This record gives sequence, C-alpha cells and structure tokens, in this order.
Amino acid sequence: MNIFSTLKLLVGGQFGEIITGSKRFAAGDFGYRIPVGSSGELKKLSETLNFMAGEIGAKMRDAELRRLELEAAFRDMSEAILVTDGAGVITRLNPRARQLMGAAGFDAEGMRLSGMPAGPELSSAAIKALSSGRPVSFEIEPAAAPGTVLSVSASPIVEDGAVRGCVLVARDITGPSRLEAMRRDFVANVSHELKTPLTAIRGCAETLLNGALEDREHGPQFARSIHEQAVRLDNLVNDLLKISYAESGRAQLEKTQVELKPLVDDLGGGLAAILAKKKISVVNLVPAGFAVNADRDRLSQVLINLLDNAAKYNREGGEIKIAAADEGSCAKVSVEDTGAGIPAAHLPRIFERFYRVDKARSRELGGTGLGLSIVKHLVELHGGSVGVDSAGGRGSVFWFTVPK
Ligand code: ADP
Repeated sequence: MNIFSTLKLLVGGQFGEIITGSKRFAAGDFGYRIPVGSSGELKKLSETLNFMAGEIGAKMRDAELRRLELEAAFRDMSEAILVTDGAGVITRLNPRARQLMGAAGFDAEGMRLSGMPAGPELSSAAIKALSSGRPVSFEIEPAAAPGTVLSVSASPIVEDGAVRGCVLVARDITGPSRLEAMRRDFVANVSHELKTPLTAIRGCAETLLNGALEDREHGPQFARSIHEQAVRLDNLVNDLLKISYAESGRAQLEKTQVELKPLVDDLGGGLAAILAKKKISVVNLVPAGFAVNADRDRLSQVLINLLDNAAKYNREGGEIKIAAADEGSCAKVSVEDTGAGIPAAHLPRIFERFYRVDKARSRELGGTGLGLSIVKHLVELHGGSVGVDSAGGRGSVFWFTVPK
C-alpha cells in the first residue's frame, strides 16, 4: 500500500478529492474546483489549492492573450521580422519577411539566412550583431529587389551573457528615400535655375558700372538683358509659388460650373502677342454650353500653361485646336498643336518638374520647366488626370480630365 492509499484511508474521501483536483490542475484544467470539506486542515488545503488554480488560470489566460496579440502583430506587421539562432539559421519569420526574402513558396524556417534569395545583405547584418553582441542598423538595396531600399536593424538575443540569436527587423523605406532624393534634386534644380539669371544680371550690372553706362550704343542692351533676366526670375518664383501652393495641401478649390468655350476665347486673347508674332491661328472647338465643375482660376492656369506651350513650341503659321468632350463621368479637354512634337523617349517624364526636351530652347522662349508640373498638380487637385499623345515631328495633343 503506498503513502497516498494509506493517507486516503486515514483521512477519507476529502484527500481523494484533493488528489483528483491536483491531477486536473497539473493537466492544465484550472477551471476545476476541489469540493471543499466541512472543516479542518484539509478544508484549508483545498481552499488554498483552489485559490492557486484560479490565480494560475487567470495568469495563463493573460499570457495566452498576450501571445495572441503578439502573434497577430507579428503576422500582420508591415515590417519584415526574422529571427535566427546563434548560427544564423532562421527559426521564425513573418509573412512580410517571407515575401521580402523571396521565400513565399517554401518553408524558410530551418534554413540558413545566407542561403536565402535575398539573404546575403541581411546575413552580414546578422553576423555583425551576433559577433559583436550589439545592435546594428543600416540601409540596403537588396540585389534581389532592385530599386527597393530597406532600413534594417539587427539586434542580438542575449541570455545569461551569451548571444543566442538575432532578431532582424527590415522596413521598406523606398517611398521616403525616393522623396528625399526628389527633394534634393528639387533644391539643386531651383538653385541652378536661380543662379543662371542672377549671374547674367550681375555680369550686365558690373559691365554697366565699369563704363558701359556711358556707352550710348551698347549700354541699353545690357539694361535690356537685366530686365529680361529679372522677368525670368519673376516667372520662376511665380511658378515655384504655384507649385508650392498646389503641393501644400492647403489649396482650397472653389468649384463652380465653368463654361469652357468663352473661357478658352478669353485666355486665347491673353496670348495675342505671341500668336500674332508666329502667325498661329487658334480654333476653339469646344461645344457651346459645355461646362465643367472646377475652380475657375486654377482651370484657367491649366489652360494658359497648355496654350502657352502650344504657341511657344509651335511652328510659324501653325494652328492650335482646343476641344472638349464627355468621357464617362469626366470631361476630357485637349489642346493640340502643329509643332515639332515630343520624341517618345521624353514622354514618360515630361510632367516632371524642370524636365525639358530642349533646355536651351525652353530658356530662350522664357520657359521655367515648371509649367506642365503645375498643370499636373492642379488637374490632380480636381481629381482628374493628365496625358500627352505625341510623335516627334507631328505635333502634340496635351489633354486633361476633370469630373463634370
Ligand atoms: P517650359 O517652361 O520649359 O515650357 P513646361 O513644363 O511647360 O516647361 O514643359 C516642359 C517641356 O516639355 C518643355 O521644355 C518642352 O521641351 C516640352 N513641351 C511642352 N509642351 C510642348 C509642346 N506643346 N510641344 C513640344 N514640346 C513641348
């Protein structure tokens, strides 16, 4: 007879209840409660065991909830998370890491990080963290995903002073880093665009001060150059202000029903000088009564920029046709010219700031290289889109849509 049986005999059924209860607790059934006897030490023991089971049960539920929360975060995080052991073997990775590592179609757990399709760069980070025992972070462009920029941090898992593994967290920062590059380009472009006319103004002013002021024949030419360059600076600053306003997110559109045909006629009037100089005729094909829901001033700016380009880049004696038609729930407005057109290679970038097909020609014509990007911004503010159809040598058709 063992000790339990002896005790059971001695203290009767209560002890049996306690043994049964203890076994159920040991098996994880913390909802079970030992029936509590009427009195004595065994009653206290039963109550204590029941209390303990209640506490452990609550803690286990809490821990399970935490585990589920972490699991959900791990699974759905936009960051890629990858855990390795001390030898660089992957022990866990979330779906984003699987995608990033090019491991969508197979089980990467148990494989060496360095052996993964996108692993070599991450692997060297893990090795650094594992060997130094300190976190490392840096940016990489994985060879397996050209154009993608990742911000990676590798932190060692340290237990009792020994490095047991490493957690890698990688965040896709392609968008922000592209934005940063664009910002840098923009600042460089603006500085360059400002510097050119300023240098010319400074040169002309110095020449005047050094004696050309007295030169009745050449003096006025320098003054005219200063004026020309100042106009150019003024145009540039105005265009920059328009861009910054359109991009600021503060731009408030005051939309009304704008009748297009008379607006085009008015704007054409503003271009009379250049149209007459180049003997260009304007054909307004917009149907009478055709209206769009737009901010009148911004829509005028879009049309002015397109008409101005259609005139500037047109040939002598050419033509500009403006047309409008319904396209689904939008109106599509097009400005067609008979100029030299735009070679296909330039078309994808033509709406970018400062992008010009022929820099010298644009400058000579008083261009800032910002007109089309202003058009794009303003049209997009209206919820529309822009485009161009052109083949070198056969004119261009610039178009935009706006909701009706
Ligand atoms: P710019 O001030 O130089 O005219 P834009 O942003 O308005 O700047 O235009 C960008 C470039 O696109 C121009 O420099 C020119 O090379 C080209 N472009 C724009 N419109 C036309 C057009 N109608 N025909 C031919 N080229 C054009």
